Amino acid sequence: MIRMDEDKFHSFIHTLVSIKESIKFCKVCAGLTELEICEICSSPIRNSKLICVVEQPEDILFIENTGEMSGKYHVLNGSISPLDGIGPDKLRIKELLNRLKEEEIEELLLATNPTLEGDATAGYISSSLKDSGIKISRIAHGISVGSTLEFADQYTLGKAIRSRLPF
Ligand SMILES: [Zn+2]
Repeated sequence: MIRMDEDKFHSFIHTLVSIKESIKFCKVCAGLTELEICEICSSPIRNSKLICVVEQPEDILFIENTGEMSGKYHVLNGSISPLDGIGPDKLRIKELLNRLKEEEIEELLLATNPTLEGDATAGYISSSLKDSGIKISRIAHGISVGSTLEFADQYTLGKAIRSRLPF
């Protein structure tokens, strides 16, 4: 157990609370940020023609750690799961389709988890965009099926992004 005097304890709690309050969701990608629009979305050096689609905000961190993603991101906030009553309308798919209309995007990398739900979500997005002319790829299955990005090691995840396949 860590012993802390009361003053230190209060300032520690205060710091935690202010960190929590300053974190919000980016207005574009829905990733976590302290800004209105995150540093990745507003970066002039990143490839804005390539969007990596993920289920959760924290997936951005896992993919950033691999150093293999030069593009930007879009968080869906989950995956299609009929058993839990989560249909495409509950996810940020509409926002994704709007971005595709408004931004000059050439490629989508679908990095949803290699689970039944993640695959169903990737399938839904790719069929919605069948005639759009946008190149769609899916992270390669170096990641074990049924696992999530969170549990893939950095090497495996990096390899899966490098060897992505047309969807
Ligand atoms: Zn963003």
